[in-house]
Amino acid sequence: MIIKKLVVGPLESNCYIIADEITKETLVIDPGDEPDRILELINENGFKVKYIFCTHAHLDHIGAVIDIKEATGAKIVIHQDEQVIYKGAREQAATWGYELDPLPEPDIFISDENIVEIGNLKLEVFHTPGHSPGGSCLYGEGILITGDTLFAGSVGRTDFYGGDIEKLKKSFKRLMSLPDKVKILPGHGPESTIGKEKESNFFLKI
Ligand SMILES: [Zn+2]
Ligand SMILES: [Zn+2]
Repeated sequence: MIIKKLVVGPLESNCYIIADEITKETLVIDPGDEPDRILELINENGFKVKYIFCTHAHLDHIGAVIDIKEATGAKIVIHQDEQVIYKGAREQAATWGYELDPLPEPDIFISDENIVEIGNLKLEVFHTPGHSPGGSCLYGEGILITGDTLFAGSVGRTDFYGGDIEKLKKSFKRLMSLPDKVKILPGHGPESTIGKEKESNFFLKI
């Protein structure tokens, strides 16, 4: 498995590019901004992008979806409960002072326990609402992609539209039940592990 990370945009979102070494089939997770850098990395590695996976539809995670879709023809994958936020992306952008072209319709709506396959790699969808209604993590191959649900030392805010602290508590608990050695790749900031977060995440006290 090849994992590349690009930190993109003013909110420093982590865009992950995960490829199967043998087939070069590739998953682009949260292309939030800076499409040229993302596409350059894809092209120089000969990656074949099969899916664009959005952990959720906040602007800092979807800002470059249009460009990546246009350039690669990959399928856009997002949780079914995130449709309202995805459809409101242009309004979100306007409140941040951006203009965003209309987003293409998602190709695949996923739900909990669906499997995303990239070559020989298999990642399971965990629906983890709380930060946003259709927020989802991907788990498998020893890693957990958490979007804005879980960060090193903290969790995502719940004061945006559709946020819910009680749901976030449940989602957090579920993630903390995974094995200690699982590596966490969050939507912002540095990596961590489940073991570390079980010891030190501030949300344990809430
Ligand atoms: Zn977010
Ligand atoms: Zn974010």
